[in-house]
Amino acid sequence: MNQKNSTDSISATALIHSKYQAPSGFAAFPSAIHHASTVLFKDVAAMRERKWQDKSAYTYGLHGTPTSFTLEARLAEIEQGKYCLLAPSGLAAISLVNMALLQAGDDVLLPENVYSPSRDLGDWLARSFGVSVRYYHPLIGAAIADLILPNTKLIWTEAPGSVSMEVPDIPAICAAAHAKNVLVALDNTWSAGIALPAFAHGVDIIMQALTKYQSGGSDVLMGAVITRDQAINLRLQAAHMRLGFGVGMDDVYLVLRNLDTLKLRFDAHDQSARKLATWLGTRPEIDTVLHPALASCPGHAIWARDFTGAGGLFSVLVNARYSEPQTDHFVNSLKLFGIGFSWGGARSLCLPYRIQQMRSDWQHQGTLLRFNVGLEDCDDLIADITQALQQM
Ligand SMILES: *Cc1c(COP(=O)(O)O)cnc(C)c1O
Repeated sequence: MNQKNSTDSISATALIHSKYQAPSGFAAFPSAIHHASTVLFKDVAAMRERKWQDKSAYTYGLHGTPTSFTLEARLAEIEQGKYCLLAPSGLAAISLVNMALLQAGDDVLLPENVYSPSRDLGDWLARSFGVSVRYYHPLIGAAIADLILPNTKLIWTEAPGSVSMEVPDIPAICAAAHAKNVLVALDNTWSAGIALPAFAHGVDIIMQALTKYQSGGSDVLMGAVITRDQAINLRLQAAHMRLGFGVGMDDVYLVLRNLDTLKLRFDAHDQSARKLATWLGTRPEIDTVLHPALASCPGHAIWARDFTGAGGLFSVLVNARYSEPQTDHFVNSLKLFGIGFSWGGARSLCLPYRIQQMRSDWQHQGTLLRFNVGLEDCDDLIADITQALQQM
């Protein structure tokens, strides 16, 4: 449009304060993406009355918009929890739990097979923040009672451990912890919140890396912390606010969009991964398959008792006659498996781990390889691994 004549041009004020209002009553399946830093109040009194912890209304973009409230509510529903807070990554969600529940002088117990950055965070809490951090064997079960000290405030669990895959006895750990008034947090990422009814098993706080299955697209970083207890949630909310853990609403939308297919995708990953893991167990190059649904995995009986599914992530131990350069060559020779961190997306991944350097208590020989089985045809994945094993 020709606006050379200044008398025709719109003023900056008119440009900003447009009178147009879209008709109400729009209905469609997708959640709307509500972006906001500023949230408007009807009047000053409404602004003064609003309580940001009370999620019946909106206060400031950092505390959420209808888009993030919807994701929080749906995640709480999936886990059968009551409250949910989003964080900018899975690791941020772990930090949130630690910052909310621990202070100098407190003690926290972590499993030996904990997600490595969580261990690094624990070491930082110990070095710089005066928190005592101790590690326990993931299969310790009820004997964790012997490790609980008067200042122990929190026990982290991870089911299964994300590299070595031991399945912990969550109900036994929770019973021992609760007998001494200690809270139990679970990194429930592996099960996507749909294959382990964690609150029913006694867990107090569930953490999820939504980056994995909930996103499903290898394109979003996000985390969540889910609880049932209002007092715990208030402590988490206070830390969430102080840490300024906002999330981008476009990312929230991507997770919401993919949530509808979560169970279908998870079950497809599960079916393919079990087939691949079982086949790998028949190969002479592989010593042990660490897949919780297979008897060769430590804690398999607990998986069978407590879980309803498995998903796409598992590990194997290659026979020690193969050197690290040989197993590296195997991974490099794969054509359908990408080499990269994270998992839960449609594309398969394979990574070697130097687990002997990650774990003080690791007994086994041979390279550990971790597979994320994507959504490709399983027979094509088997054919790809077959050709790469021949090159090894
Ligand atoms: C990926 C992952 C995390 C961290 O999630 P990010 O979003 O990558 O920070 C935490 N725990 C487990 C078990 C994970 O697999």
